[in-house]
Amino acid sequence: MMNVEEKVSNHVVRKMETMGHEQVIFCNDKVTGLKAIIAIHDTTLGPALGGTRMWNYSSEEEALQDVLRLSRGMTFKASISGLNLGGGKAVIIGDASKIKTKSLIKKFGEYVDSLGGKYITAKDVGMNTQDMEYVREKTKHVTGIPESMGGSGDPSTVTAYGVYMGMKASAKFKWGSDSLEGKTILVQGVGHVGETLVKHTTEEGAKVYITDINDLKLAEVAEKYGAEIIKADSIYDMDMDIYAPCALGSTLNTDTINRLKCQIITGAANNQLSDEVLHGKMIKDKGIVYAPDFLINAGGLINVYSEISGYQREESLLRTKKIYDTTLEILLKAEDEDITTHQAALLIAEQRIQENK
Ligand code: NAD
Repeated sequence: MMNVEEKVSNHVVRKMETMGHEQVIFCNDKVTGLKAIIAIHDTTLGPALGGTRMWNYSSEEEALQDVLRLSRGMTFKASISGLNLGGGKAVIIGDASKIKTKSLIKKFGEYVDSLGGKYITAKDVGMNTQDMEYVREKTKHVTGIPESMGGSGDPSTVTAYGVYMGMKASAKFKWGSDSLEGKTILVQGVGHVGETLVKHTTEEGAKVYITDINDLKLAEVAEKYGAEIIKADSIYDMDMDIYAPCALGSTLNTDTINRLKCQIITGAANNQLSDEVLHGKMIKDKGIVYAPDFLINAGGLINVYSEISGYQREESLLRTKKIYDTTLEILLKAEDEDITTHQAALLIAEQRIQENK
């Protein structure tokens, strides 16, 4: 008869096996209250790089699922972007506004350091630049630190530029021209990435609609760029050319896909497809062009990679610009082979990993 501990560990190892993870580290520190999970998915192409997310998960199972899925996504993001990096991610369990302390973050830095560079961390949701400085005090295996400390700074503007490139390539594929002038675009989430995307698209003459749960931010972005605010509950039913999810993942699910009237989906959020297979297929069957999230939101990763590879910001921007060509290549491959765009992108990413095994 299996005891509880054995059941739990079997369950985790089985998930790792199914999703292809190399290593998962569970961290628990009694003094600071730190509870974290670090997931290393695949290090064939290089050290596993991925941000640390601090989130008030409703269960440990939810935290585990998140870190496993996000770290796997990082493997494919690095591979398809031509970077010599593997995929990793970390989650700290708890409400950042309530339990985050300097000592907790430093303790997390010690755990990262204990992996000797196999995992390199960065900032993600719930973490800020100051936190990364605390992590840096305990380990050199951290990226995305401020420019004043020799780092590459906030990656969000580069991420937004990559999403913009993916959007233009999708327009070229769908309409024969990559001009966004006169197109209607809904940007969902006008945070760091979303706001810059609003800037690029309004500058090109698109009619931009915005939605966010933060009313202050909405009003500020609307005023700054002349974008129109849309009520959250009606966004999936509105007429628009392009839907740009830049808030949370899983917004592409059975309910929303049935309602969406757009022709293109290009956004920054990670894991947009609630179910990669089912929802990728539903989008394809509706004739909507979907540019895979892990491909077009890679600008931020490309930018932090400069801290490891030593190349300059111009090189990061040039590499991010190439997202345009890769998006077109993937959309054409999906069409030729009658597969979803997500599958086409995965095939290319996996091929590069296999060639380097
Ligand atoms: P952010 O936290 O700065 O902005 C997110 C915005 O979404 C916030 O304004 C928030 O109020 C809003 N939001 C949250 N829930 C919402 C909801 N239900 N409906 C509408 N708006 C909602 O984050 P960011 O750095 O701009 O990143 C946006 C997304 O892109 C995230 O999913 C992130 O994981 C992903 N991403 C970001 C980067 C990067 O470089 N920052 C890189 C790759 C992927």
